[in-house]
Amino acid sequence: MWACTLSRIMARPEYTQKRIMPSFPRLFQPLQAGPLTLKNRIIMGSMHTRLEAEADGSARAAAFYAERARGGVALIVTGGYSPDAYGLLEADAGALDHPDKIAEHRVVTDAVHAAGGKICLQILHAGRYAKHDALVGASDIPSPINRRKPRALTTAEVEQTVASFAACAALARAAGYDGVEIMGSEGYLISQFTALRTNNRSDRYGGALENRLRFPLDIVRATRARVGADFLILFRMSALDLVEGGLNAEETLQLARALEAAGVDVLDTGIGWHEARVPTIAYMVPRAAWRAATTRIKSAVSIPVVATNRINTPELAEELLREGVADLVSLARPLLADADFALKAAEGRADAINTCIACNQACLDFLFRNKVASCLLNPRACRETYYPKVTALRAKRVAVVGAGAAGLSCALTAFERGHSVTLYETQGEIGGQLNLAKQVPGKEFAETLRYFHRRLAKSSVQLKTAHCVGADELAQGGYDAVVLASGVRPRLPDIPGIDHPKVLRYDEVLSGAKVPGARVAIIGAGGIGFDVAEFLSAPPASALVPEFLDAWGVDPRGMGDGGLVAPKPEKASRSIVMLQRKSAAPGKTLGATTGWALRMELARRGVPVLCGVSYQRIDDAGLHILHEGQPKLLAVDHIVLCAGQEPVNTLRAELAARGIAATPIGGAERAEEIDALRAIAQGMEVAYAL
Ligand code: NAP
Ligand code: SF4
Repeated sequence: MWACTLSRIMARPEYTQKRIMPSFPRLFQPLQAGPLTLKNRIIMGSMHTRLEAEADGSARAAAFYAERARGGVALIVTGGYSPDAYGLLEADAGALDHPDKIAEHRVVTDAVHAAGGKICLQILHAGRYAKHDALVGASDIPSPINRRKPRALTTAEVEQTVASFAACAALARAAGYDGVEIMGSEGYLISQFTALRTNNRSDRYGGALENRLRFPLDIVRATRARVGADFLILFRMSALDLVEGGLNAEETLQLARALEAAGVDVLDTGIGWHEARVPTIAYMVPRAAWRAATTRIKSAVSIPVVATNRINTPELAEELLREGVADLVSLARPLLADADFALKAAEGRADAINTCIACNQACLDFLFRNKVASCLLNPRACRETYYPKVTALRAKRVAVVGAGAAGLSCALTAFERGHSVTLYETQGEIGGQLNLAKQVPGKEFAETLRYFHRRLAKSSVQLKTAHCVGADELAQGGYDAVVLASGVRPRLPDIPGIDHPKVLRYDEVLSGAKVPGARVAIIGAGGIGFDVAEFLSAPPASALVPEFLDAWGVDPRGMGDGGLVAPKPEKASRSIVMLQRKSAAPGKTLGATTGWALRMELARRGVPVLCGVSYQRIDDAGLHILHEGQPKLLAVDHIVLCAGQEPVNTLRAELAARGIAATPIGGAERAEEIDALRAIAQGMEVAYAL
């Protein structure tokens, strides 16, 4: 099927006549992985979606995975399923521990196979990370990220758990899966056995390294014995533990070699336990930051090795393959953002890929709030059955006012659903607040803008930039629907001296229109306040891999416990203080899976946050505040306002006066808590409802 697709592409006139070749020769080279021939080198990595907890979960998972199979990935790995009741991540998580469950998995495997794909089940035992009261572990040592204490498995129970893994693999085979991935990284049960940090057992599964590695090796051998030689077994091992008491580089390589000898076909890699205090996939992690750890494993074994984490473009994937870092790449979040990643790369349309920006806002952060995962950039993800990819349904004339995130999402979705769309933008360029967000170190919104530009260019949306459309013009346009995506303006707080030349707005600073001096106070410690603090404090080289590893205390050679060394904190490039009126801990509104790292990074750079302040006045001397009841002068060069926003939507009333009911979306509807996540999702939803 893939070979046919590729030969069809190669036979197209643009390739034969203009001699344009696909740009990723290694990425699209087939690979023999155990018993399976993979059509290319792209694996969809395992992601929890929480779909298994939904009533219509099987149908939704089938649609979700089938769309990615059609999008050209060689192999899909499902989210983790427990082999028994103890290993459940949470009470309503998925398990494959009984033949009764085969039918619901068949729905998924049939859909993927019908779409020309291959799919493996990931077997995951949560161990001490389980969020239910029957949790177990290698020992009874609790995790710092779980308030529950695990019960140590007895030796007989360890043997039973080994058998459960093997039985789960046999059930997966019966359910039509092409293989299984045994989850042995990220600090779940298998990692808990291998590391001294969590294993103080005195039986044959504890003590010396050889004993601690026995549990994963027994699982692999038992699984191979149950499923036979013609069933793919991947093992996801921790290439770097990033916790004290974790394995060092030599111990990790010993595990890799032993896994190969025990019968593993492919070694997938994971980076860092969930409790590690080093960010491993968030936006502040430079792309492919972990390549050295993967290269070490590849050099130790002869079976295919998979590179993972912060690989989000085909160019980077090709580079990793070319440089011998790995044989395959695992893309997880990038396939939430764009199901057609592989197809677009193969067809020479890499610039049309909706590139994952590692924000975690709708994937991991949703899971933390017990919601089904989705994607900030692609709100259809995991909701494919609710928002089918059908086009040309309607043909209304639609005006969208504002080409920021909400307006772009709405206009393009409406166009793709068959409407005739005019998109008005006051500024000379599209993007709105995305043009500011892209300036923050690590935030890859420039990719998002490139994607929107490309999608617009391929559409017939009539884009009118530098055009401040008024109510009369919209009324005369005779539109069937008007959507107001006119965005927000920064709030100017009522502080004496607010018009002093020392005062700058966040948009002036992030756009580069104004450059603050060496001493800065930031009013407002919300999302934008933190972004501005990051922007103003980041040393020039902070986005480079060696500097990132140094700052977070990671030894690139993987020496030391878990590959950790003492961090060498970066020095802020300015003296900065952040302020908020609330007494509550600052940064509460930041993402659950990224906020901690941003707070830690700024604290290490020496950026304090003063809480419970009241603003007195601004004058030539600086910012006068009351803090803990005491008057204080912050003798700063500039004060940057990050005090929230207000909606820009006066057109709504003007249109209403002309009898036109416009639909406000994004910040124009509600400025509080507006971000790209809500803007893009709402834009799409409103377009589907037109
Ligand atoms: P925000 O998160 O609501 O923060 C506004 C800040 O301004 C607060 O610290 C608030 O604290 C302060 N403030 C509000 N009214 C004020 C006033 N009249 N005078 C002085 N200070 C005032 O809003 P934002 O920073 O503009 O961000 C907008 C949205 O984008 C938010 O939902 C945010 O979460 C999201 N966002 C998230 C991220 C991220 O997760 N990394 C990044 C950017 C934006 P006090 O009232 O206590 O002073
Ligand atoms: Fe990537 Fe953000 Fe989408 Fe998650 S929500 S898949 S991190 S773009």
